[in-house]
Amino acid sequence: MGLTAAQKRTLRRALQALVSDVSTKGTRRIAPNRTDETRVGGDEDEQALNEMLQAIASDRNRASGDVLGRAQRALEKLDQAPDEAGTCEECGEDIPWGRLKAMPFAELCVSCQGKRDRPHHGPTRRGPTDFR
Ligand SMILES: [Zn+2]
Repeated sequence: MGLTAAQKRTLRRALQALVSDVSTKGTRRIAPNRTDETRVGGDEDEQALNEMLQAIASDRNRASGDVLGRAQRALEKLDQAPDEAGTCEECGEDIPWGRLKAMPFAELCVSCQGKRDRPHHGPTRRGPTDFR
């Protein structure tokens, strides 16, 4: 269930680009609008990858803090439990491919992410429920 082989391949490449880019901090830059000249892949794969790289490039500026860890976890998941890649860690539902393209390291579906971002109890983000 979940992702097709091609989608997993695309996801892996985007995550690897993200991990290597963040961990080398500025020595390598993602160039979202350029494709790798030597690689001739399926057009749809390339297009999805480009969308991911563009999303990463903008996400990185906002949330460079834990993106690296999340991307590394997502890569480990692809290796160790590929069937669970692209599914929500909370409810097990498939995470829509469109969401993964915008956020390849997403571990929750939209509704579970919403619950986590806006806990019912307590107006502040600090406290015992903040385990991040
Ligand atoms: Zn969920």
